[in-house]
Amino acid sequence: MTIKVLGYAAQSASQALAPFQFERRSLRNNDIVIEILYCGVCHSDLHQARNDWGGSAYPMVPGHEIVGKVIGIGPNTTRFKVGDHVGVGCMVDSCRDCQACKKGLEQYCEKFPTYTYNGVDRHDHTVTQGGYSEKIIVSEDFVVKIPDSLDLKAAAPLLCAGITTWSPLRHWKVGKGSKVAVTGLGGLGHMAIKFAKALGAEVTLFTRSLGKSEDAKKLGADRIILSTDRKQMESVRGEFELIIDTVPSAHDLNPYLPTLGLDGNLVLVGLLGPIEPFLHTVPLLLGRRSVTGSAIGGIAETQEMLDFCGKHGIVSDIEEIKIQEINAAYERMLKSDVKYRFVIDIASLRSEAV
Ligand code: NAP
Ligand code: ZN
Ligand code: ZN
Repeated sequence: MTIKVLGYAAQSASQALAPFQFERRSLRNNDIVIEILYCGVCHSDLHQARNDWGGSAYPMVPGHEIVGKVIGIGPNTTRFKVGDHVGVGCMVDSCRDCQACKKGLEQYCEKFPTYTYNGVDRHDHTVTQGGYSEKIIVSEDFVVKIPDSLDLKAAAPLLCAGITTWSPLRHWKVGKGSKVAVTGLGGLGHMAIKFAKALGAEVTLFTRSLGKSEDAKKLGADRIILSTDRKQMESVRGEFELIIDTVPSAHDLNPYLPTLGLDGNLVLVGLLGPIEPFLHTVPLLLGRRSVTGSAIGGIAETQEMLDFCGKHGIVSDIEEIKIQEINAAYERMLKSDVKYRFVIDIASLRSEAV
């Protein structure tokens, strides 16, 4: 039996999000039913709601930083019980059979993962809908446990902003004494700073917003560089082994390349699209530097990150909002005016349902 759920949906690329009633699928044997308590607001939600990347299907209920409580379990589930606090990130399924899936890298599934929203369910071919809603039904293999020690609402952004920055830090083996830079202090950027610091790195922030300097220091940055100031950029020439670039749109990467040391990597996690202006290859050749990319993280890695957060008391810095404030929140996010992640209290949606 399907269940009726209230959410907030975009009806087109140019319309504000508004209440939307829809149905969640009937429970499958391996499924978990989750009452959603909080959902983070990722810049990707805005990109997708407004069809910035093309391929958006409407109506669309965004939201892939989901934290909630288990309220139902399928007969073949083994990992969760009713009452557990759990999370769901950007994926709800994958082929589970390709090389990437077998390595626990479901985000790089050769047949593409099923995304939490604006995706198509691989079994019944219905369109998936995300976390700006009361409930969600997900295969238990794509559900993670939220450590008891973490504040639930502040943990929600870990499901995307957290794992997207954790994964490259781990892949490129950041540890004690590593020199890491982060470009852009938003949802992803502030988590990148916290994680790099907690892993023992020396952390630099590249920002266009000097007003964020004090916050950046509190978050763990050792140094702040104004990316628009040539002299300041010059002062960190050859410094970094890793730069995590979280900027959501095309921007000139050329000033950043000389700040990488020998074999350094600039990892793009923000931009989906062509690099403009062109990259000059000289700093790549003379220094064997790379420009590369990274997408979210696998399910096991997401649990590893959450457990690390539980142990070290790491959560996101959030501004809690009501669902009715989502459209204003998108506008503020476009102006980089968020410290540092909006999180929707889904109770505000339930009050609308009555
Ligand atoms: P956000 O909270 O809006 O933060 C982005 C930050 O980038 C801003 O706070 C700003 O920092 C900087 N910035 C914005 N526009 C800029 C511009 N034109 N030039 C230079 N800097 C600019 O966004 P977010 O939620 O962190 O997401 C960042 C990007 O990552 C989005 O494009 C999102 O879709 C993408 N994303 C990718 C993945 C993945 O798997 N790879 C996962 C999640 C999100 P300053 O004020 O400090 O300059
Ligand atoms: Zn996201
Ligand atoms: Zn696969």
